[in-house]
Amino acid sequence: MSKQISAIRGMNDYYGSSAQALDFIVETAETVLHQYGYQSIRLPIVEKTELFARSIGEVTDIVEKEMYTFEDRNGDSLTLRPEGTAGCVRAVIENGLTHNQIQKLYYMGPMFRYERPQKGRYRQFHQFGVEVFGLSNADVDAELIALTARLWDKLGLDNLELQINSLGSLEARQAYKDILVNYLSQHKDQLDEDSLRRLETNPLRILDSKNPDMKSLIEAAPKLMDHLDEESKAHFELLKTYLDDLGIEYVVNPNLVRGLDYYNKTVFEWVTTELGAQGTVCAGGRYDGLVEQIGGKATPASGFAMGLERLMSLLMDKNLVADVAEADIFMVLVGDAASRPGMVIAEQLRESLPDVKVVMNCGGGSFKSQFKKADKSGARIALIMAEDEVNNQQVGVKFLREERDQVTLGWQSLEAEITNYFNEL
Ligand code: ATP
Ligand code: MG
Repeated sequence: MSKQISAIRGMNDYYGSSAQALDFIVETAETVLHQYGYQSIRLPIVEKTELFARSIGEVTDIVEKEMYTFEDRNGDSLTLRPEGTAGCVRAVIENGLTHNQIQKLYYMGPMFRYERPQKGRYRQFHQFGVEVFGLSNADVDAELIALTARLWDKLGLDNLELQINSLGSLEARQAYKDILVNYLSQHKDQLDEDSLRRLETNPLRILDSKNPDMKSLIEAAPKLMDHLDEESKAHFELLKTYLDDLGIEYVVNPNLVRGLDYYNKTVFEWVTTELGAQGTVCAGGRYDGLVEQIGGKATPASGFAMGLERLMSLLMDKNLVADVAEADIFMVLVGDAASRPGMVIAEQLRESLPDVKVVMNCGGGSFKSQFKKADKSGARIALIMAEDEVNNQQVGVKFLREERDQVTLGWQSLEAEITNYFNEL
């Protein structure tokens, strides 16, 4: 035997219940997004490296050390997308979608970051992202939050905390940066290695540190919230009013700064304590400057991304993914003479009952082994044919989930009878 080849570290296969959980989240999210009038956009997984460097920011963790970057055969530097917003912004600019238009978009797919793999943190992971272009008011920020709240409800998740903050305008943040650097410089001895580096490059990110030793220093730091510009302050107040009207609870977290550079005004995260350190399942905010920063006409924008692996583990830990039966009708067909008309009947049933799963026993086998499979499939009924039934143009109907005698139906009446049976359930 040849040596096995394994998957790349931090890149997972999903099958069985994990695949079911992923599908359930995506389908539920799409249903919710459609309710709010959002539309799907599909984007490449690979973009020019420059796009991420310019949008996410040169001194962020992602661009500094997490990107999968390589040269293609032509010598161009390309990167596997570490997140979806940059590509989405590139696409709306390139396709002229922001010219006097409002866009409300969603996408889903794999993202890639070279991180240390651990629970809730992988090198290939999936995000469901939502972006709105052309709207600057707090109402759309509130809408984005409202639709995530609706999604949690549909998924059966009730233990998520909403944290919000405002990053203010670029100017306000710049002024605050000086105040923060001044404070932190007076406590250099308490800064860890990462933070000492960030003090020079990206001091705001120090507030985002997950190092428990720095917690008290960060808690005592001057707050951006106290240095906001008037416009951002009003925007934030309005956001809170909307959330109050909607009955959506939130916590103002003055240290919420987010990992990426491009945010301004509203930032928010949905956090759980049930996943250990990797507790943020959804994160986003406003990024009014980004479209212009990557070469488009100035366009306000707001959005978020959900980490689907973290939502998957929440659902699986709580057994919130219903086991979906593989079949509703299982065709027990003994002998090739039965398989041939059986396959035709199965197609007819799929045609007249589009919501009913009709599963063939393929590959033959005895009555006994086929009934075993029928039972395991979760089907409500088994349709049975062997040589006798074929000769008489009949089908046996066995009820697998109820006390009811087996019946025999003619091929002519089968479709109507089975349709009736499922309609009455
Ligand atoms: P963190 O602080 O956990 O590293 P982040 O700020 O880097 O998160 P974002 O870039 O905002 O994360 O991504 C949005 C969401 O995507 C996160 O809240 C998380 O749920 C998910 N996510 C980010 N990185 C990973 C990863 N490596 N593996 C799994 N999920 C991830
Ligand atoms: Mg990260």
